[in-house]
Amino acid sequence: MNTEEMQALPDSTGHYGDFGGMFVPETLMAPLQELSEMYESVKSDPTFQEELDGLLKDFCGRETPLYYAERLTEKLGGAKIYLKREDLLHTGAHKINNALGQVLIAKRLGKTRIIAETGAGQHGVATATVCARFGMECVVYMGAVDMERQALNVARMELMGAEVRGVEAGQRTLKEAVNEAMRDWVATVENTHYIIGSALGSHPFPMMVRDFHRVIGREARQQILEKEGRLPDLLVACVGGGSNAIGLFHPFLDAEDVRMVGVEAGGDGIIPERHAARFQGGKLGVLQGTKTWLLANDDGQIELTHSVSAGLDYAAIGPEHAFLQNEGRVEYTYATDEEALAAFKELAQTEGILPALETSHAIAYGIKVAGSLPKSDVMIINCSGRGDKDVETAAKYLLGK
Ligand SMILES: *Cc1c(COP(=O)(O)O)cnc(C)c1O
Repeated sequence: MNTEEMQALPDSTGHYGDFGGMFVPETLMAPLQELSEMYESVKSDPTFQEELDGLLKDFCGRETPLYYAERLTEKLGGAKIYLKREDLLHTGAHKINNALGQVLIAKRLGKTRIIAETGAGQHGVATATVCARFGMECVVYMGAVDMERQALNVARMELMGAEVRGVEAGQRTLKEAVNEAMRDWVATVENTHYIIGSALGSHPFPMMVRDFHRVIGREARQQILEKEGRLPDLLVACVGGGSNAIGLFHPFLDAEDVRMVGVEAGGDGIIPERHAARFQGGKLGVLQGTKTWLLANDDGQIELTHSVSAGLDYAAIGPEHAFLQNEGRVEYTYATDEEALAAFKELAQTEGILPALETSHAIAYGIKVAGSLPKSDVMIINCSGRGDKDVETAAKYLLGK
């Protein structure tokens, strides 16, 4: 498939080649159809786009800077490193691009109640934020283990009027929170919209979430042309479900000379149950609405996962990434917990930026390869979020506190 055809996917049934689709209970088929139709209609509606653009600018703080990391570049002695500063957005990560877009759609669908799942709490915070802004009732499902790890984000959500429901099933993390949110949605879909937090789930979610994050890549493309007079050689982003990565990559897919690398969570190394790198030892399967690459044992049971960053700690990857990997258009690699923590420290001390631990995986890859690339090369790393939420973890590992 040529790169322009890749960029035009998914097809009308939500497939990216062999991946994606709609694996949902019967009761959700009609609401998902209604959502698809509404999404198609707002895509070409200038009033909707103006409202979205205005809020992205004045409420969220777009556009975000494309920042030249000069000290880091000089220290590594190779490719020029730019950071796309999504960490400077309102609520501290890229996630609000999607939460805002979806709440506007929910409003148009006449929904009055929003539900969401959250892992590290960043998507929950972004959802609670837009619900407060639009006066919507908000319920966020969160694994009990994550609630403990991310107590600050739980408080942020509650302070904005959201109800956070702890989930006690299974591993008590993100996967179980998604199950509970799905269960809620099946029962309440009449008045409720489910804002999925990554480029995952049934069609049309992976497409819609991607499209709301494409603003990252669109801005970066314009900004690098202004600063360097040409497109970059390399794009780097961390990949949990894959929303910040696809947001950066998608507007560049047709530019064949631009290499792209997605960085998954290598955890303690590629040992079963100790990582969340789906392309390292994963297999094709169906999880939570979509057909994609995931971590499962030989019986098809979903495996336990591990990462120091809760936002990358999920057994499945977004279906479009499975497709792009299969096509060879995007390369995927991983960084371990240890490499991510070292990168966190390096960026903090050379640039004065504390990245999220998720983001630190992308930074780790950039640090690993920059020195071996020519000085004339240009690399853009998506700085998907800020590290305030991770200060306690980082201090424990890096300062022994
Ligand atoms: C949630 C999160 C991620 C991972 O999610 P994607 O959908 O893969 O982008 C990455 N970085 C930050 C800062 C996050 O909050």
